[in-house]
Amino acid sequence: MTIPALMPTYARCEVEPVRGEGAYLYGADGKKYLDFASGIAVNCLGHGHPHLTKAIQDQAATLMHTSNLYNVPGQWKLAEKLVELTFADTVFFTNSGVEAFECAAKTALAYQHVNEHPERNRIITFHNCFHGRSIAAISATSSEKLRTPFEPLPDWSDHAPFNDLDAVRALISDSTAGIMVEPVQGEGGILPATPEFLKGLRDLCDEHDLMLILDEVQCGVGRTGTLFAYEQYGIEPDIMAIAKGIGGGFPLGACLATEKAAYGMTVGTHGSTYGGNPLGMAAGLAVLDVVAEPAFLTQVQETGERLRHALEQWIPNHDDLFESVRGMGLMLGIRMTEATRPFVNFARQYGILTVAAGDNIVRILPPLNIDDSHIAECTRALTEAANAYREAKATGTAG
Ligand SMILES: *Cc1c(COP(=O)(O)O)cnc(C)c1O
Repeated sequence: MTIPALMPTYARCEVEPVRGEGAYLYGADGKKYLDFASGIAVNCLGHGHPHLTKAIQDQAATLMHTSNLYNVPGQWKLAEKLVELTFADTVFFTNSGVEAFECAAKTALAYQHVNEHPERNRIITFHNCFHGRSIAAISATSSEKLRTPFEPLPDWSDHAPFNDLDAVRALISDSTAGIMVEPVQGEGGILPATPEFLKGLRDLCDEHDLMLILDEVQCGVGRTGTLFAYEQYGIEPDIMAIAKGIGGGFPLGACLATEKAAYGMTVGTHGSTYGGNPLGMAAGLAVLDVVAEPAFLTQVQETGERLRHALEQWIPNHDDLFESVRGMGLMLGIRMTEATRPFVNFARQYGILTVAAGDNIVRILPPLNIDDSHIAECTRALTEAANAYREAKATGTAG
């Protein structure tokens, strides 16, 4: 047999983390890594945060899973908290981002259906978007890389260029049910929507009675310096998918909606065996105890500005490899002059974990509670990595 026991869908690197503490991961070989990847924007409180860890430990010892056949008090607590903190009136809990996306899409389609518009059964999505790996989610992208080899995929979405309002306007038809957008594209390359674009989408949705669906799975939960990115755009969605940061490392997601948008989501329209389990609810509540505090969010904004500034100061010394910084809060991307994967791989040897993204972007996604010492360490590690990478390229050993 040549196939490994673990289905080979990931190109896993050599790092084998065995322990985490704050912003650091420790490898099986004893090596220490500055974790500026945070499990791809998941570990928003870093590793081993005492409040989160204790909440999970206590809940695990009390009750881990019951069922949505029963009342789960934690669901009410977390749902009410999210309702209080956001545009939403109601919440469905999932275990992951793609499940939150699925619920968001179903909510939009059901809205049109119960409002006597069953013909409105298509969603407008965007080039370089990422909504997860289910059949519906990959069919919502135009990325060949994600779609192959699963064609033909369900044809239920129309794809417009990101930040191009005219293109969206031209795509709206009698069969459009809603528009699904990441306020800051993550996998696509840390690309924020322009304010005019998001406001314009809101106006188009109002004008045509379409659902505006935000995917804040990556940019939500404090990552951009506000609890949710949409707050910085002066708009509110009808439906929003969240996940990643909300569990702080525990698998948790949610679909949030207004009362109007959720009109079609009645008994029997959706469900999940694990979604809303007591353990996940305890994790989500513990994360929000910390992240939803205004002082914490202000600190994310300030730390984000200092990190961005540090990176902007750093780039001119390495402008053969790096050209600019973009993003919001602690969701930053450094644009390289070449493909990023080799550098990201290389940087790990110099003790810093980052993530490659589309459009030649090195994603910088630290825990939200880092301080200036971590920023200094980041630029120091990037300097060492860039110098060594440059040398390795010259000798043809950069990989
Ligand atoms: C990661 C991500 C998803 C998918 O989340 P999973 O938990 O991997 O299913 C969906 N949307 C966005 C914007 C993401 O970044």
